[in-house]
Amino acid sequence: MLTKTKIYLSSPHMGGTEQKFVNEAFETNWIAPLGPNVNGFEDDIKRALGGNHEVAVLSSGTASIHLALEIIGVSQGDEVLCQSFTFSASANPILYLGGTPVFIDSERDTWNMSPELLEIAILDRIEKYKKPKAIIAVHLYGMPYKANEINAIAEKYGIPVVEDSAEALGSKYKGKACGALSDFGILSFNGNKIITTSGGGALITKTKGLKDKAVFLSTQARDDAPHYQHSQVGYNYRMSNVLAGIGRGQMEVLDARVAARRANYEFYKAHLAQLDTIEFLEEPTGSLSNRWISCVKTDSFETREKIRMALFEDDIESRPLWKPMHQQPVFKDCLHFTDGTSEDLFEKGLCLPSGSNLTETDLQRIVTIILNTPNS
Ligand SMILES: *Cc1c(COP(=O)(O)O)cnc(C)c1O
Repeated sequence: MLTKTKIYLSSPHMGGTEQKFVNEAFETNWIAPLGPNVNGFEDDIKRALGGNHEVAVLSSGTASIHLALEIIGVSQGDEVLCQSFTFSASANPILYLGGTPVFIDSERDTWNMSPELLEIAILDRIEKYKKPKAIIAVHLYGMPYKANEINAIAEKYGIPVVEDSAEALGSKYKGKACGALSDFGILSFNGNKIITTSGGGALITKTKGLKDKAVFLSTQARDDAPHYQHSQVGYNYRMSNVLAGIGRGQMEVLDARVAARRANYEFYKAHLAQLDTIEFLEEPTGSLSNRWISCVKTDSFETREKIRMALFEDDIESRPLWKPMHQQPVFKDCLHFTDGTSEDLFEKGLCLPSGSNLTETDLQRIVTIILNTPNS
């Protein structure tokens, strides 16, 4: 009997040398949130981002956003402008600090923060309350947001930008690496991301001073004294040297992972673009997406659900696009500047299996099901 294996949306894909770095950690007894793998992983990321930024590896992408906002000085009563079309981890840290999220809708070209709505929101908040404390923009699914336009607006009003690049390691915008385009960048190495340490993240800063500040806060804000002395609240957010070993191995295959995910997208496009019920998101000129997830927008909620259920019946995981934050119960009272774009994407969009470990047979199995789904 033929048995089909389950196809996941995005599963970890080891390169082969990860265990060597992990074993080194054991052999040298660096089983701690510091050590050679932590330093080596930070150097590898720094190089991948072009060499001009500083990197602090932390316990998660969420922790990295939390520390970026903490360093910016977000506190009780501050508003932070955040892309609505994203994963909840982009916005949750605003609440950890007592701040208030204000959500901004996406534009059609990139599915990311609309520069127009961003400026409308800034002007509204300045007039009715006070200047927002920070902007969180997201390169969703690996597609770069319009960083030049977002940065220009941010600079015009003097508001720092946190670049949520959790899904976009390996993506490029006008030749520059995503994660290193704004005041602060963050990466995630969660199990579903393009490379993984099982769990982990990084905060990217423009100066060594800011990196040192992040490391200080992530290791319980310990003052320079022989005893344990603390003058401010700290966090336990540093990455383990064992997990950083996985990261070092994964960095060796990052380029191959980007190429494989981009090839998935090309395969889907080549086989499905003829359907008039399905649309793909093209890269704007100057943008290179790592295609972390290959997404499609269908013509209706019904088409989307038919495809999703047909895949599910064959043990293939697919998922609706992110539900916008302004529609989430937990953020129901938050202000939002929206025009229906992300609501439409949530209603009709689907994430297709996108792992770098998918085989041609897997991809063929997926497109065959979609092509055979009635009305699609
Ligand atoms: C995964 C993700 C995060 C959070 O990263 P973790 O490492 O899981 O904490 C933040 N933002 C976006 C857009 C993500 O996809």
